[in-house]
Amino acid sequence: MKLILLGAPGAGKGTVAKMLTQHDGSVQISTGDILRAAVAAGTELGKQAKAAMDAGDLVSDDLIMGIMEERLKEDDCKNGYLLDGFPRTIPQAEALKGLLEKMGEELDMVVEIDVPRDVILDRLTTRRTCEKCNAIYNVKSNPPKEEGVCDKCGGNVVQRADETEEAISNRLDVYNEKTAPLVDFYKNEGLLFSVNATSSQAVVDAVIEKLNA
Ligand code: AMP
Repeated sequence: MKLILLGAPGAGKGTVAKMLTQHDGSVQISTGDILRAAVAAGTELGKQAKAAMDAGDLVSDDLIMGIMEERLKEDDCKNGYLLDGFPRTIPQAEALKGLLEKMGEELDMVVEIDVPRDVILDRLTTRRTCEKCNAIYNVKSNPPKEEGVCDKCGGNVVQRADETEEAISNRLDVYNEKTAPLVDFYKNEGLLFSVNATSSQAVVDAVIEKLNA
């Protein structure tokens, strides 16, 4: 399947994407994970992205499109992909449309995960992420067995630099201003499927049912 997962930070895009990859072998492509890996490795890309990321602002469209043009050409995309955190602006959506046309590919669906703001705020302030494998935990509902240690790979489980209250509030404002307009963009493209659910499993079930319909 070729899907875009759209939704505010904390809506569950990453969790839903990971669950869907197990369904049919599609690969999850998270621009946030790619950027965080670049920051951790100290590459030129990471240096250019770090300040915007720490403040909860968006990285430039040009930088993101450069990453995605390369990423979508890789072999593992042949079985399908779940775009998590991309596109995030109308120019990115337009550029993606042109890129897919050039590659002769079509999206199956754009899934909008719609979660109330209070649920999102609570989730983001209690969310923790493995620095090494990006596994997601929650201090209240899903803590690692040993505090600060990833169950899956033994990596450090930490609070992301952009998950302070100030950065979270900025990320939600940026989402409303720059990314929420993509809902109408994809409605006009006839691709939008909105799911109003706070459980990731419910979102996955709804997507699979819709794809099989
Ligand atoms: P995420 O893990 O998707 O919440 O992304 C973390 C941060 O990476 C965002 O707050 C942005 O600074 C940056 N980022 C990720 N994806 C994009 C994108 N498609 N466009 C611009 N910035 C992005």
